Amino acid sequence: MADEKYGLFIDYTWCTGCHSCEMACKVEHNFGEGVYGVKLFEDGPRMLPSGKYEYNYLPVFTSLCDLCAERVEMGKLPTCVHHCQAACMKYGKVEDLAKMAAETPRSWVYVPEQ
Ligand code: SF4
Ligand code: SF4
Repeated sequence: MADEKYGLFIDYTWCTGCHSCEMACKVEHNFGEGVYGVKLFEDGPRMLPSGKYEYNYLPVFTSLCDLCAERVEMGKLPTCVHHCQAACMKYGKVEDLAKMAAETPRSWVYVPEQ
């Protein structure tokens, strides 16, 4: 279908904060210092009432993310997905990703401007 939208799914339970997605995107697009298609943010650590520490790593996509259109046209995965060390990023149709997110706690779907 011509109007099918594509996006990215992140299961951030498993994101290790390795920055590989960030770096792969910068290299692929030749982005200079301070310019990102995806930028990793860190939250925490903080102590919970249970006494355990919580921390979160969150890859946030910017308006420069084009879902790696050139790579995808060649049948490749977006480079951030390809290089994710934890395999916690997926590329696909938003409809399919939303179903995956509905079954995956602490996950979300990124839909770029189209
Ligand atoms: S899909 Fe491509 S352009 Fe978008 S964040 Fe990932 S590597 Fe960057
Ligand atoms: S490559 Fe994967 S594990 Fe590493 S920071 Fe990005 S989303 Fe997290």
